[in-house]
Amino acid sequence: MAILEIKKFNDKVLRQRAQEVKEINSEIRKLVLDMGETMKANNGIGLAAPQVGVLKRVIVLENGALINPYIIRKYGTKIFDEEGCLSFPEIYINIKRYGKIEVEAMDIEGKEIIIKAEGLLARVIQHEIDHIDGIPFFNRLGFWEKIKFKLKHWSFKF
Ligand code: ZN
Repeated sequence: MAILEIKKFNDKVLRQRAQEVKEINSEIRKLVLDMGETMKANNGIGLAAPQVGVLKRVIVLENGALINPYIIRKYGTKIFDEEGCLSFPEIYINIKRYGKIEVEAMDIEGKEIIIKAEGLLARVIQHEIDHIDGIPFFNRLGFWEKIKFKLKHWSFKF
């Protein structure tokens, strides 16, 4: 296993839509293991493949990996909470996310799974799925919050 370099700030790879995984082969399994290792080494609780420069729809969480994850249901009250991101170190902002979600994905063995998540896990999954869609977390700020953020971090690409 290897600890991979985390892409940061204005890297283009963080703003592109990642491709579906067609087949779970040794390349994908290695990617998942390396991403898990990289997440742990950086004290993260989630990591998406574009953050290590790979445009594939793969995310890792504390309890496993989700391949081609897709939110099939979002419900519950939207909740504001503080988020950080390994690709934007030292930036902590309040982002509104759905409180509960249901996600369809493949696990590392290629098995179709559906998971129900709420609270922090629901938040992390929504943040990581945004990464594979090329959306940095500050893009989820509300209108005025985003303007204030842009004034403070004027060099960031949105
Ligand atoms: Zn992130």
